[in-house]
Amino acid sequence: MKIWEKAPAKINLTLDVLGKRDDGYHEVEMIMTMVDLSDRILLEDLEDDQIILETNSGIIPNDERNLIYKAAHLLKSTYQIKKGVRVFLEKNIPVAAGLAGGSSDAAATLRGLNRLWNLHLTSNELMELGGKIGSDVPFCIVGGTALVKGRGEKVTPIVSPPPGWAILAKLPISVSTTDIYGALNWQDIKEHPNTDQMIIALKDHNFDGITKNLFNVLEEVTFRLYPSVKYLKEQIEGFGADGVLMSGSGPTVFALVNKESRLNRIYNGLRGFCKEVYVVRLLR
Ligand code: ATP
Repeated sequence: MKIWEKAPAKINLTLDVLGKRDDGYHEVEMIMTMVDLSDRILLEDLEDDQIILETNSGIIPNDERNLIYKAAHLLKSTYQIKKGVRVFLEKNIPVAAGLAGGSSDAAATLRGLNRLWNLHLTSNELMELGGKIGSDVPFCIVGGTALVKGRGEKVTPIVSPPPGWAILAKLPISVSTTDIYGALNWQDIKEHPNTDQMIIALKDHNFDGITKNLFNVLEEVTFRLYPSVKYLKEQIEGFGADGVLMSGSGPTVFALVNKESRLNRIYNGLRGFCKEVYVVRLLR
């Protein structure tokens, strides 16, 4: 049997860091939402006990370092599954971009193998496994829009943004999430997002309220280490976008737009100096 699973990218509407935990991870509070830019994963049953991974991407590993491999291996070892799987990853999400591409691939693999191998695991069980692979994986299991806390394991679904688009712009640099958190001194954070106001704006379907409350405490760190990302954000603001924010630890910067005329203006302006620009729908 063969099945396809979609692995959508996420953007952060807010990202706050509240402290550092005893286990070394940061205590986060963030609102994430999925966008219509997805990797596609083909999973095919194998009778022999192997995990074989192929991908059209020339820049990510296709061995045990890949989060897809880790997800399949974890599921097999936790539930003593003797079957194998052949996976093909069609990579469309930019890598190391702040869009959780790898985490979403891992989540899609867990969801897909749960179906392929008839494991009947609940979402909570899949989220618990996912948390062992990466902090963003539990959210990616659930998808939609959610308030995410702890180190990423506490996921509460909330109302998704009203219909609109995100314009994603990525400079040709890769940013390591570990490096950005490593350079963050959380006690020095001067301004925090108003997460409650963002939740209210989402509940009210208030697009202006959403754009006004976009805030990511990691911008300061990434902008310091990669000033070109700050410049990119300023350029997009200059094209007349209402709300512009860096996603995750960057370097992708996005603008939220709900009017087609504005979408075209920003897209055309951006294409002049940023090669990787994606116009994507916000997912419900
Ligand atoms: P996040 O937003 O969760 O911090 P990201 O979008 O910044 O994630 P990813 O695209 O997930 O970053 O990739 C980060 C690293 O993980 C890369 O260096 C890559 O080599 C490795 N990696 C392992 N598996 C995958 C995968 N399936 N897809 C993409 N990257 C992967």
